[in-house]
Amino acid sequence: MGDEKSAPTRVEQQRLRALPSVSSLIQHPAIAPYAREVGARSLTRLAQLVLEEARQAILAGRATGDVVAVLQRKLQKLSQPRLRSVINATGVIIHTNLGRAPVSDEAARAMAEVAGRYTALEIELESGRRGGRMSELSQLLSLLTGAEAGLVVNNNAAAVLLVLSTFCAGRAVLVSRSQAVEIGGGFRIPDVLRQSGARLVEVGTTNRTYVRDYSEAISDDTAAILSVHWSNFRIIGFTVQPELGELAELAHARGLLLIEDLGSGALLDTAAYGLAHEPTVQEAIAAGADLVCFSGDKLLGGPQAGIIVGRRELIDQVERHPLARALRADKTALAGTAVTLRHYLRGEAIEKIPVWRMIATPLAALEARCQTWQSALRDLVETEIVATDATVGGGSLPGETLPSRALALGAEAIAEVVPGLTVEELARRLRTGQPPVVGRVEADRLLLDARTVLPEQDEALVEALRRSLAIS
Ligand SMILES: *Cc1c(COP(=O)(O)O)cnc(C)c1O
Repeated sequence: MGDEKSAPTRVEQQRLRALPSVSSLIQHPAIAPYAREVGARSLTRLAQLVLEEARQAILAGRATGDVVAVLQRKLQKLSQPRLRSVINATGVIIHTNLGRAPVSDEAARAMAEVAGRYTALEIELESGRRGGRMSELSQLLSLLTGAEAGLVVNNNAAAVLLVLSTFCAGRAVLVSRSQAVEIGGGFRIPDVLRQSGARLVEVGTTNRTYVRDYSEAISDDTAAILSVHWSNFRIIGFTVQPELGELAELAHARGLLLIEDLGSGALLDTAAYGLAHEPTVQEAIAAGADLVCFSGDKLLGGPQAGIIVGRRELIDQVERHPLARALRADKTALAGTAVTLRHYLRGEAIEKIPVWRMIATPLAALEARCQTWQSALRDLVETEIVATDATVGGGSLPGETLPSRALALGAEAIAEVVPGLTVEELARRLRTGQPPVVGRVEADRLLLDARTVLPEQDEALVEALRRSLAIS
């Protein structure tokens, strides 16, 4: 039995005494300048924490590391915002870990403007009276989708939860067995249904569900049929799913609502760009869905938001539900979404919305940009231009790829510039640089895919590479 409270050994005492005092630590030339960044109080507090950790480590017989260096690293992290812009050279267009869709320049400006100023969020400027924050967006959504009205909330998870809570709490909801799915990041249809107070009734089988499966499962208790788009997976082979129109017919004949969780919510046809057809919001409304939910920051290409469109009386009811307030979108998201929707209205989505611009960029243009990067680096490092497959990502169009081009830096070429520098280490240098560049490592090569790099970032990308390949 070891005595846990035993007195420090002589060696431990020596190590404890060797630790600097708080006051000498915060006056250290490597530390003192941070007082301006984080304030004197926080600096003292952090120094105390680092010293306490070091004491605990010593008493536990562990190594401590240099306390000045430890504190300096903490301060560096703290004084540098983590949410910095990143150059996405992964070839994944809607990259969830990189913040999904970058918005258009106009949308970004509108968001910055309302963030830094007062805005007419809930006032009719003409009459000076209180006005709804949703009237403009509802109108835009109606024009674009053919629905009677629309509502914008925090994200699509919130949209689905809110719709189910409003119409299905305490009642049954029919979902095909193949659609009781997990979308990722903790969004599972059975869990969301339970959270809304609704009862999940699974119908059909994993691969085959017929209209009669729904029909036979309807009871007095049934409130709705929920259809969930297979955003991030596919079922192929021996499969049957009813058309949305058939479900609408059944739902309406039996006095039920048809709710569609469309996921990515395309307004344009992805098939025009060599991809599979992603069902659009307009199609879901035309097929007879009463309410359609989708994300604002997937294929729509706007800021984070969840959008609900459908029949006006239903949208009004959703808006009045107590959860609507808890799940509402903030003014910057509303401003960014409105500008994004206007791009579609004006027919300029392909040119203005980054996600669509990336999808639509011809291969020749990507090849040309890779050549520009290559020439700009020719004096420094040998590179290759290789064919790659870019993806839409963000849980849309699984398995679908867009042909793309990447600049490839091989292990040998890298080691020739900086002896000992590996592909992984170069990738890490790029990720931790300023601006960070995220590429991907494949078959001992670093690939920088042009399809997802914004053209205005081309120079910054080349500069980042030059810095990362600087000797040492
Ligand atoms: C992405 C997705 C969601 C979740 O949307 P968020 O905007 O991430 O909250 C829900 N349902 C489907 C079908 C999706 O594809």
